[in-house]
Amino acid sequence: MGRSKEGKPVPKPRGVAHRSRPGRQCDLCGKTARLTTTECCGNTICADEENYVLFSYARNSCYRNHRRFTLCGYHHAEEHPGSWKECASCRTEFETEMYVYYGTNEYNFEKLEKPPSFEPTRCATCDEVINLAEDGFSERGDDYYCESCSEKELQKLLGKVPPLEPDGMQRPAADRTTRAGKHRSRSKRRPR
Ligand SMILES: [Zn+2]
Ligand SMILES: [Zn+2]
Ligand SMILES: [Zn+2]
Ligand SMILES: [Zn+2]
Repeated sequence: MGRSKEGKPVPKPRGVAHRSRPGRQCDLCGKTARLTTTECCGNTICADEENYVLFSYARNSCYRNHRRFTLCGYHHAEEHPGSWKECASCRTEFETEMYVYYGTNEYNFEKLEKPPSFEPTRCATCDEVINLAEDGFSERGDDYYCESCSEKELQKLLGKVPPLEPDGMQRPAADRTTRAGKHRSRSKRRPR
């Protein structure tokens, strides 16, 4: 026969998600449920990587987006030393346009403060500007082709399949990919 002491806390029914600290939220999308911490930079983020369907290329996972589409995630995955913002390897690893994209897109917690400037990428056929981060395009050698030119090219190939021609034929009309400083053996001095 024991009398419980006054003031003893009545056990609360469980139900409210435990461990949800108030104010904690994904710093990318603001959700407050199912959170984790990024490995690369220790920020709070949705634990949602399983939302991603393999090969869907969807951008519906904060966790994956940060890991795959930011310099922070890349830098960490490649085990570069130091801060990604000052990392020379990251800088040379990507074309400037993509470097800037990966360093400033909405999947970043912190962005590059002074992103380098770059020349827009243009289609080698029609000269249209291609946004490498968002537009469809194809690449051949150092050339880029916009989505519609790539498609036309593909249609051509599908329409009449040329018999075993190696790639390289069908150069676009405006083939002006001459690079400065690449003069070929014009006035090669012969040793006497
Ligand atoms: Zn999120
Ligand atoms: Zn990070
Ligand atoms: Zn790096
Ligand atoms: Zn084009």
